[in-house]
Amino acid sequence: MSRQSQLDASFAIAHKLLQRLAELHLKPIPRNYMLWYASLDGTRPELAQELARTVEKEGGLSQGMVDALYDRQFSAGEDGEVLRKAADKIENSLGEVLGLLDEAGKDAGKYGQSLAGLGADLEGAPAAEDVRAVVGQILAATQDMSARAQGLETRLKASVAEVTALKRDLEDTRVEATTDALTGIGNRKHFEQRLKAAMAEADVEKAPLSLLLFDVDFFKHFNDTYGHQLGDEVLRLIGRELKNNIKGRDTAARYGGEEFAVVLPVTTLPNALKVAEQIRSQVERRRVVRSATGEVLAAITLSVGVAAYRHGEPVTALIERADAALYAAKHAGRNQVMAEAAPVRPLAAG
Ligand code: GH3
Ligand code: MG
Ligand code: MG
Repeated sequence: MSRQSQLDASFAIAHKLLQRLAELHLKPIPRNYMLWYASLDGTRPELAQELARTVEKEGGLSQGMVDALYDRQFSAGEDGEVLRKAADKIENSLGEVLGLLDEAGKDAGKYGQSLAGLGADLEGAPAAEDVRAVVGQILAATQDMSARAQGLETRLKASVAEVTALKRDLEDTRVEATTDALTGIGNRKHFEQRLKAAMAEADVEKAPLSLLLFDVDFFKHFNDTYGHQLGDEVLRLIGRELKNNIKGRDTAARYGGEEFAVVLPVTTLPNALKVAEQIRSQVERRRVVRSATGEVLAAITLSVGVAAYRHGEPVTALIERADAALYAAKHAGRNQVMAEAAPVRPLAAG
């Protein structure tokens, strides 16, 4: 394709995607632009299908839903991109520092040589005049050296500042990559990292560990009735409730669209059930108000599944048991907490 036709194709995609965003009442912010660009330029046909399916099923898309999609599509790649750029920058900075040190070494060498040369002038029985002249030259060489050293120091400081800023950027990127944009609590990646770490710790400490999985009841209906923007508001509210009800080393995260998880280290199943019930009842009591009209909306309810870690089991086994308990809570009528099924013990022989 010629450069001109590539350009024309990009403009055609941009035109189309802006139209799509306008139809969906979404802002043309970078992440939305990127998502629709990738869905329209033919590089991600599965993304195009997913967008079309979701819009069809939901009758629209909220920014929260777009954010979740975007995170799934791009966050890993973007991390990689940021890390690659950071590595390049660090390499440049280190090259600069090494160059400066090399220069400093050369300057010091020259300084030493001129001092040695001047020392030779003083051999034998020098006259006062000679001594004065030599001292004058030493002073000049030293001032020159000091000026160079100052210049080097300033440049070294600038390099150090650059590396420090870079480190902060990387930390920000790490936090951003594990935070759910809509609710501000951890995302699924964060949840998986924290759960694995908590399991390893529980193994070492021989301590209990529990997992709570939450799913909003009839949330599709809520969205269909009140719109996705208010739906997003509900998800934010749940994020806040989760955060308010945990402490210390506990972790709350958005596990998926309208699913949340809480990891409770050093917590037995009965205690985890209490925490789950507390969160469930507090969310049920909260009311979402439509700010434009003051209308109080239907109560939000949660179904919760709770499971306790069995030392040494894989992470998937624990999640599956919590998920099965959640399914049982849905099946039993929703708006309730259900513990995992008790393990079946083999009958003792004899
Ligand atoms: P159930 O009680 O069985 O869980 O019913 P449900 O309607 O909650 O379950 P279902 O899985 O059929 O639908 C989940 C809905 O959650 C689909 C979508 O409308 C909504 N949803 C998922 N993610 C988001 C989001 O980020 N924002 C909003 N507003 N809605 C979302
Ligand atoms: Mg669900
Ligand atoms: Mg649901």
